[in-house]
Amino acid sequence: MATEIKIDEGARRFAAAEQRMLIGSDWVEAADGRTFEVYDPSTGDVLGHVARGGSEDIDRAVKTARAAFDSGPWKDMTASERGRAMHRLGDLILEHGDELATLEALDNGKPLGVARVADVPLAADLFHYMSGWATKNTGSTLSLNVPYMPGAKFHAYTLHEPVGVVGQIIPWNFPLLMAAWKLGPALACGCTVVLKPAEQTPLSALKLGELILEAGIPAGVVNIVTGFGEETGAPLAAHDEVDKIAFTGSTEVGKMIVQAAAGNLKKVSLELGGKSPNVVFADADLEESIPGAANAIFFNHGQCCCAGSRLFAEESIYDEVVAGVADHAKNIKVGSGLDPQTEMGPLVSTEQLERVCGFLDSGQADGAETVVGGGRVGDSGYFVEPTVLAGTNPQMKVEAEEIFGPVVTVKPFKSTDELVPNANQSIYGLAAGVWTNDIKKAHRTAAELKAGTVWINCYNVFDAAMPFGGYKESGWGREMGEEALELYTEVKAVCAQI
Ligand code: ADP
Repeated sequence: MATEIKIDEGARRFAAAEQRMLIGSDWVEAADGRTFEVYDPSTGDVLGHVARGGSEDIDRAVKTARAAFDSGPWKDMTASERGRAMHRLGDLILEHGDELATLEALDNGKPLGVARVADVPLAADLFHYMSGWATKNTGSTLSLNVPYMPGAKFHAYTLHEPVGVVGQIIPWNFPLLMAAWKLGPALACGCTVVLKPAEQTPLSALKLGELILEAGIPAGVVNIVTGFGEETGAPLAAHDEVDKIAFTGSTEVGKMIVQAAAGNLKKVSLELGGKSPNVVFADADLEESIPGAANAIFFNHGQCCCAGSRLFAEESIYDEVVAGVADHAKNIKVGSGLDPQTEMGPLVSTEQLERVCGFLDSGQADGAETVVGGGRVGDSGYFVEPTVLAGTNPQMKVEAEEIFGPVVTVKPFKSTDELVPNANQSIYGLAAGVWTNDIKKAHRTAAELKAGTVWINCYNVFDAAMPFGGYKESGWGREMGEEALELYTEVKAVCAQI
């Protein structure tokens, strides 16, 4: 059934109102009363003002989360009750779908229709899926054989306990969905949380905070402190009373998180950058793989850590693939996220616009061939043309570094033997795509690619049940799926002689 796409006027009012942070059950100003501006990326105009949290606010939120972890009611709720509250939260996200989607379109710039059919239902589904794990993240009984205690008998088992107070720092590319990816498993495991949304896109997380309380998740279990990376994120990552930090963002900041976490050796999970290879073999169905390759890079304006930003096409079909993807790029309708015709919105911020344009300039200076695109669109808002670059090499910044914009490099290859080392030639290992009708080749190649996710004859397919995370400098740990529970679980072995 198709979802009707509506601009929600309540979301506009929410964006325009001065927004406070959630600590306990209170919506509070920053301790020093400061606020910061959030912008509409399609115009560059100020959209609203949000509390600018600092280390004092983080400290207050962490202490609140600690109290909520150590004493009831969260701790005393059964896993089933916890799961039911999470399930209600999923329902509430669906009920508020238009409002949340409109907030994403306003704040992040993504097309409203995309937010409505992807970001919102995926976020709801994450809570629905994880709510089921609340009752199932259990330990096991163990059969012991202790050689130096012959004849002794034991009753031994493991308990799965929540890791404690968790700091979660999220990015701006999927603001609501990234909050869901982080909160879902943490809540299923019984942790309490201090969530820091990205400064570019704090609005949907704050709306989610209202729904969290409405769903019956007790006050203090989820605290949301808005602000900038260095002022708000860094004190959270360094805080001694935080037991675990989960971060999604750039590899550069991920390395800073690891350093900050060293003080109390808090546990760390990281979902970082990517430069994912997307491979089209000559025997692939080009009617599927050409639009698939375009979607792999241009979805969400290339602002996906798993974007298929290095396209490899087998020599005999290379020209057809380049022409086909370029044709797609040319026909993408770029515009405001609220315009129903829009297929690609603006980049999120003026910094990202400058960054992506800087990469386009460097590609040109290094001698890359611009097949299509290559520049900014208009002079208001943060729009960039969908861009296809050919003739690149791994020494060029455009091929080596994560651009996080709608820019793909495309290269020919002769054989699988030549392809695999080239595809794996990256400091990253988040995702990869393989397009072929040869089932053996598909799975052989999938096995050889160093990536946390390999999509075969598809790309950008996400599901709450499917773990996501990276090899190499793309991160530590896996989010979603059963694997995500490990990030928020302490395992205790209990051994009784009987
Ligand atoms: P991007 O460069 O795409 O904005 P970042 O990695 O800088 O990505 O940001 C991702 C998240 O990390 C945001 O919520 C941001 O505020 C936060 N952040 C940035 N710098 C730091 C830092 N030094 N310590 C903790 N969090 C940070």
